[in-house]
Amino acid sequence: MLHGYGGRILRVDLSSRRILREKIDPDYMARAIGGRGLNSLRMLDELDLNLDPLSPENLLIMGIGPLTGSLLTSSAGMTISGKSPLTNRVGNSITSGFFGPELKRAGYDQVIFTGKAKNPCYLLVADDHVEIKDATHLWGLDTWQATSAILKELGSNLFQVAAIGPAGENLVKFANLAFNGFRMGGGNGMGCLLGSKNLKAIVVHGTSQVTLAKPLIFHALCSEMDQKIIAHDTFDEITKETPARANQVKNKSCYNCNLNCFHYHVKEQVELEGPEHDSLHGYSSRLGVDDLSSSLKMNTYLNKMGIDSLESTQTIGLTMECFQKGLLNRNDVDGLDFSLGNQKTVYAILKKMITREGVGDLFAEGISKLSETLGKKSENSLKISEIADPLVKKQKTFFTGQTDQQELLMDCMTLCKKNELAMDTLDIDAASKFLTAGTGIDFTLKRIEKSLQGIIDANKKMNTDLSSIKE
Ligand code: SF4
Repeated sequence: MLHGYGGRILRVDLSSRRILREKIDPDYMARAIGGRGLNSLRMLDELDLNLDPLSPENLLIMGIGPLTGSLLTSSAGMTISGKSPLTNRVGNSITSGFFGPELKRAGYDQVIFTGKAKNPCYLLVADDHVEIKDATHLWGLDTWQATSAILKELGSNLFQVAAIGPAGENLVKFANLAFNGFRMGGGNGMGCLLGSKNLKAIVVHGTSQVTLAKPLIFHALCSEMDQKIIAHDTFDEITKETPARANQVKNKSCYNCNLNCFHYHVKEQVELEGPEHDSLHGYSSRLGVDDLSSSLKMNTYLNKMGIDSLESTQTIGLTMECFQKGLLNRNDVDGLDFSLGNQKTVYAILKKMITREGVGDLFAEGISKLSETLGKKSENSLKISEIADPLVKKQKTFFTGQTDQQELLMDCMTLCKKNELAMDTLDIDAASKFLTAGTGIDFTLKRIEKSLQGIIDANKKMNTDLSSIKE
């Protein structure tokens, strides 16, 4: 018997409303390990790279790993993948929280969506019970409202909810998913993919247990890891970041993590967990706003609307820089004043982006299209693309070296990078011990390296093939 894994793949075709459960193939899982690796191999096997990312045929995949939801600290990750509407490349969004472990307890390692529902819907997974439910009444709600409404409807708080907000419904190319309204699955526009499939939310509850091949050895390894983390000299730094201290109500953590790195803020117009460094500085220093509390308010708003903080702040930051350099003026952007630090404009353009109104429609396409179109319009193409290019390139870069391989291993094992990677507490040797004790598969160093190389090759192949497709 294969331990660690949930044991099944769930396939949901939203067009035909067909739901299939497949048993996992142990050899396939050993090659994929899990999480990002599992999604990568699936896309290599089943994704038509030629398709328009917003077409019903695009895949939307959620993948977890063999140790997700186990006693190993911070192993609550998950990867959401598909052809990205933002980059037109294969895209992944990595997230943590509680959804992955719940999916595991429901007995699934991967959920694969295809097709497009006729009307707004959400997927309900409760162990073996899988149902596509109507979500017409939820369409238009923000992520908090939708999450509450679903939990109320189901009459239980035991469900984990991944929902999109108005940004995903309006196909903003960098829309994200909110897990229970707070943990965001950002990057690469996976929320936009849900919107394109008329899928408002995915809701899961499971009641089984994660089984381990060698529980005593596994537990001993986990205790060792816990001690390493607590003794690490960055432990205090991660759990007590200075900017958060003033506003912090309490620390929160993902499922079974001893770092508790999320700072739960409740203040006037603010309720959020985190925020990530990018989000915090994105809506403050990047836009010339000298006020961290405004950044916290903005992040609360972004989470409710279901829009990625990094990409949205990049589009606004680019326009502000172009204003400063005289490359754009108000006539190019619906009369808005993009002077550095103008918070009124930041709110105004975000609203327009989310609803795709006026010039917001262009901002909603992401930085690449925005810089190209505004450049042509203002006849300052070259200068604007010089500012935007490094950011666009960053979006499209994959797998370049050793760190990428280590990052990939973390993502396949669904481990949080703030923990095992940033603290350097888990190398390939330790990974081998955890995976072997957890699954019963002999995950030797050689096998892990071979699997990682296979996943890297799969991604290289997909990206090479995509480069040859005319955009
Ligand atoms: S380190 Fe933070 S983000 Fe990572 S698993 Fe722990 S609580 Fe979650």
